[in-house]
Amino acid sequence: MKTAVRDPIQLCRLLDLPTQYESGAAAAARQFPVFAPLEFIRRMQPGDPQDPLLRQVLPLAAELQQVSGFSQDAVQDAAATVGPGLIHKYAGRALMVTTGVCAAHCRYCFRRHFPYAELPSRDNAWQALVTSIQEDESIEEVILSGGDPLTIDDARLEELVTRLSEIKHVRRLRVHTRLPVLIPQRVTAALVAWLRGTRLVPVVVVHINHPAEIDDAVSDALARLVDAGIPTLNQAVLLRGVNDNEEALVDLCRMLADRRVLPYYLHQLDRVEGAAHFEVPVRVGLQLIDRLRARLPGYAVPRYVQDVPGDAGKRVLA
Ligand SMILES: *Cc1c(COP(=O)(O)O)cnc(C)c1O
Ligand code: SF4
Repeated sequence: MKTAVRDPIQLCRLLDLPTQYESGAAAAARQFPVFAPLEFIRRMQPGDPQDPLLRQVLPLAAELQQVSGFSQDAVQDAAATVGPGLIHKYAGRALMVTTGVCAAHCRYCFRRHFPYAELPSRDNAWQALVTSIQEDESIEEVILSGGDPLTIDDARLEELVTRLSEIKHVRRLRVHTRLPVLIPQRVTAALVAWLRGTRLVPVVVVHINHPAEIDDAVSDALARLVDAGIPTLNQAVLLRGVNDNEEALVDLCRMLADRRVLPYYLHQLDRVEGAAHFEVPVRVGLQLIDRLRARLPGYAVPRYVQDVPGDAGKRVLA
C-alpha cells in the first residue's frame, strides 16, 4: 500500500503513455484520486493505453463529462443505510462498510462518491454496528465490505470477527475483497488462519475483471484460500474496453474454474457519475452470456446481474 502509485502523471509515465493522456488524467484525478499498487501495475503492458488492467485505474478526461442517468448514489444505498456503515438491503444479509480504504481506486466504482467521511471513526465505531446486528435476529450473514476490509490489519479484523461470532443468529461471514488480486501477498497464513478459526462459515468473494489480472502470485493466493476449504467466488463488472468481448470473458471464467474459484456474478455497471464511458448495453451483455453458455460448463458461467434500487436482491438479467 505504501509503494502504490498515487500520482496520475507518474502512472502515465510508468506505463509509457503518449503525453496527451497526462492532462486528462490529472484533471480526473482531482475528483477521485489515483491509487494503483505496483503489484498490479507490473501486470500491465507498457505503451498500451488500452491495456485492460490500466483502464481500470487510469483517470480519463471522459470521467468529467456529465451524462444524464448517471448519478452520485446510483444504487441508492443511502436509503438502506441503517446506521453509519451498515447497509441492510437484502433479507438475511447485512453489509458492513468497514473502511473507506481500498488497495486500488477502480475508476468505475459505485463507491467513488460514497460518504466515507461520515463513517464513525475507528475503534468504538464497530461496536455500534455490532449492536445493530445483535438486535436484528433476521441477519444470518455479515458481509465485510468497504472499501476493502482486507486493508485492515489482521488483529483488528480478528477482534471484529470474534465479536460477530458471539452473536448467535449470525452464521456466515462473507468477505468482499480485491486484495488477493491487487496485492496477493496479503493472503498470508495468518489471514487464512483467522478465517478458518472462527465459528462462522467463511466465504470469500474476490473481484477479477480480466484474465491478465491472474498471474502466478494471484493463483497462489487463491489456492491458499481454496486449500483451506474456504468457498471462493469471483465477481466481475462488465466494462467497456476491459472485458466486453467473448474471448476475455471465456478466458477469465476458464482460468477461474481451473483455480477452483467459481464465477459468481457479472455485474452490469452501476450508473455512477464519472463512469459512463465504461457502460456496455445490456443487450450486448446478454449476447456475451449466451456465448459463455455455449462454450463453458454451467458452473463456470456467472449470473449476469444488475443492482436495481428497490429490488429485494440483485436482479438476474441472465
Ligand atoms: C450485493 C449486495 C449484497 C449481497 O448480495 P448477494 O446477492 O447475496 O451476493 C448484500 N447487501 C448489499 C447492500 C449489496 O449491494
Ligand atoms: S470498493 Fe472495490 S471496486 Fe470499488 S474502488 Fe474499492 S476495490 Fe475497487
